Amino acid sequence: MLKITNLHATVADKPILKGLDLAINAGEIHAIMGPNGAGKSTLANVLGGRPGYEVTDGSAIFDGQDLLDLDPHARAAAGLFLGFQYPVEIPGVSNVQFLRESLNAQRGSRGEAPLSGGDFLRLAKEKAALLKMDMDMLKRPVNVGFSGGEKKRNEMVQMGILDPKLAILDETDSGLDIDALRTVGAGINAIMRSPDKAVLLITHYQRLLDYVKPDFVHVLADGRIVKTGGPELAHQLEEEGYEAVAA
Ligand code: ADP
Ligand code: MG
Ligand code: MG
Repeated sequence: MLKITNLHATVADKPILKGLDLAINAGEIHAIMGPNGAGKSTLANVLGGRPGYEVTDGSAIFDGQDLLDLDPHARAAAGLFLGFQYPVEIPGVSNVQFLRESLNAQRGSRGEAPLSGGDFLRLAKEKAALLKMDMDMLKRPVNVGFSGGEKKRNEMVQMGILDPKLAILDETDSGLDIDALRTVGAGINAIMRSPDKAVLLITHYQRLLDYVKPDFVHVLADGRIVKTGGPELAHQLEEEGYEAVAA
């Protein structure tokens, strides 16, 4: 589904990704762990096509298309979803409005008819229930006044509605209390655990991986994947630290 080869990228002319290789097949969940500043968020931003991140070498093929050639909207329409470490607030735009417009824009660029208001609300209710989000919260402006955990749950509702093929989730577990972590983990499994979907989870901590069991765990250090293993690698990292494990 995603094949990244020798990816090099700079931010503000500073090399951050330095020859990163990663292959993700449909049906797989991959976790990337690594020290602060290793380039984890940079990888997510480069794959999402965020301005300011310049690819200087290498390739990323998503579902047979050169991902790096597509603009961010086309990447989303092709089935890529990015969950951010810091979800943005959008005052004056309700969640429902935002989600419906996002979904219908993506459907439109795939040549599909827009969902009617009624059909959209049914879909939104179903996905909100998965994340234990009240419909009242979906009527409020996007993320405004939401707690950290509510923002992350809201983002997972968005993921459920957009129904991507590949989700890249950057520290979706940060700022979550234990109950919210469980809810978000269950939501990721319900929405994305499927033979035709895949997830790349970026996380600092092993605890999310107790709920969303990865098939592969990678260590990203200094702009490259330096070690790959199974779920046990996450436990080993937590016990021994990055330096001991990835040296
Ligand atoms: P991680 O997510 O692994 O903690 P990041 O990808 O956020 O790491 O950052 C990698 C490096 O890139 C860090 O040294 C960070 O300071 C630098 N960096 C990231 N974004 C910017 C930016 N917009 N301007 C300058 N440096 C940046
Ligand atoms: Mg960081
Ligand atoms: Mg980061």
